[in-house]
Amino acid sequence: MRIDCPYCGSRDAHEFAYLGDATLTRPDPAAPNAAEAFHDWVYLRDNPAGPHSELWYHASGCRRWVVVARDTLTHAVGPTRFACAAAEPREGDAR
Ligand SMILES: [Zn+2]
Repeated sequence: MRIDCPYCGSRDAHEFAYLGDATLTRPDPAAPNAAEAFHDWVYLRDNPAGPHSELWYHASGCRRWVVVARDTLTHAVGPTRFACAAAEPREGDAR
């Protein structure tokens, strides 16, 4: 499997370390249900079959975090972008 790093270009997946789901957001620690929300954020994960947005760390390259669109059934890798860019709101995102 090859991953297209936005900085380094196409690289073998062995150069990367997988972290997990890139769609999770940290809960508000001041919320009344913060303990339950943090439990779910830390321990509960979906196991999607199909398109998935994942965080990968380019450990043997530029050492940056990359958001990778990958199909978990076929391992086909789609568009990638730096995680810092992914944290910024995109045009059309709900606020
Ligand atoms: Zn890189």
